[in-house]
Amino acid sequence: MTIHQAKGLEFPVVFIPGLAEKIFPDTRIDDPDRWDQLPEELRGDRSRYPILDLQAIRTLEELNSTLKQRKQLFQKMRLDEERRLFYVAITRAQRALFFSRAHWYSTNIRPKSASTFWDEIIDTGLSVSQGEEEAPGSNPRLSAAPERAESEAQPVSLARLLLRPDRGAGFIDRVALEMPEVWSRLKAEVDEQITALATGIAPSWREMPVEVSCTGLVRYDQCPRLYRYLHLDRLPEKPSLWAGRGAEVHRRIEEESLSGGHGVAAEEAELKPRDWDSQADGETVSSVEEMVETYRRSVFGRRPPTMVEEPFALPVNGSLVRGRIDRLDRLPDGSWELVDYKAASFSGQVGRGRLLQLRLYALAAWRLWGIEPEKLSCFLFFLADGHIETICPSSDDLARTEEWVAETLRRIQTGRFPRTEDASTCLRCGYSQVCEARDGP
Ligand code: SF4
Repeated sequence: MTIHQAKGLEFPVVFIPGLAEKIFPDTRIDDPDRWDQLPEELRGDRSRYPILDLQAIRTLEELNSTLKQRKQLFQKMRLDEERRLFYVAITRAQRALFFSRAHWYSTNIRPKSASTFWDEIIDTGLSVSQGEEEAPGSNPRLSAAPERAESEAQPVSLARLLLRPDRGAGFIDRVALEMPEVWSRLKAEVDEQITALATGIAPSWREMPVEVSCTGLVRYDQCPRLYRYLHLDRLPEKPSLWAGRGAEVHRRIEEESLSGGHGVAAEEAELKPRDWDSQADGETVSSVEEMVETYRRSVFGRRPPTMVEEPFALPVNGSLVRGRIDRLDRLPDGSWELVDYKAASFSGQVGRGRLLQLRLYALAAWRLWGIEPEKLSCFLFFLADGHIETICPSSDDLARTEEWVAETLRRIQTGRFPRTEDASTCLRCGYSQVCEARDGP
């Protein structure tokens, strides 16, 4: 897992490897003046460094000196960024944190020394050393390279090698001759890929584990093609004021829950409206206030929560389903209540997507925290009109949901993104023109 992927999550024990020079922190920078870099005027961090003013430079020495200073500044900014990342990494641990480093990485010909972060950790005096081994005289990875090439032959996909004729041809002949079993397995793999191509299913070179959010799974259920556009192709979505309103309501309720009521957090939120609030009209701002007030008056607003905005990562067949539960309360009788806030009114029925999302949360609560479905009540709290819909999925319901999740992840892994057969979904879809241009109406 990358550190970026770990943002917002916590784990009892965290391992941070690679605290060696030039590995972490990685202070390499792209030349900011290279032709393919974003123009300075458009960079989000432009206020942090002087814009290169060629008009003010008179001599070659001045130019060299200015460019050198800029490079140092960018390196410092890069280090700051890496330090923020390191902070994220170390604050993921609940109980124990392990750091490690190696002398040799990849094909480096000099052993690597400890990184700045390693030394800083030692300097705190809080760490306990588990010992350090002497660096071997030379990089063992280099001396073992020929054997490694042999041992790595088996998992290498033939399909990948076919794409690299410069390296692949001799290797393939050798595998076919010396390892007939491996050869037949790899050949079967290629045949499978070709069949997949012929049947219009996008090939996957290997079924890699995937990480999918609950929202992503709901979208896949709605339309697999839509999932692909949003989560893989990352096509832009039409901005929605409603999404901003929902996020703001969630933020306000989270602050209220954590501050134990209508305290400082709520007042601060009123004093410092977020950007979208200041741009919105008065009706929308009052709607946010009304929804927060509805929460305050509810049973949930009057009692302390057990968990708020709780992130989770649920393993399913080696892949991960990520999500965040708005609120989870343990009651004195040992039962649990799970709440999902909706910045909307109740329309009279709970849609398929909302039901699926709630079941995914209940499944995570069951599998990750051992909260049995029979002891869990789930609520959809519609904050615009105060309606609370109760849903109690049984263990059979959740087992079926789990099977559906496993099958959906498998479909995502194998690149299956057909169009939905529900024409009404397409009518509301912002990508209908893209879709029709690709496949016809
Ligand atoms: S237009 Fe229809 S098929 Fe295409 S992405 Fe949208 S919902 Fe899916």
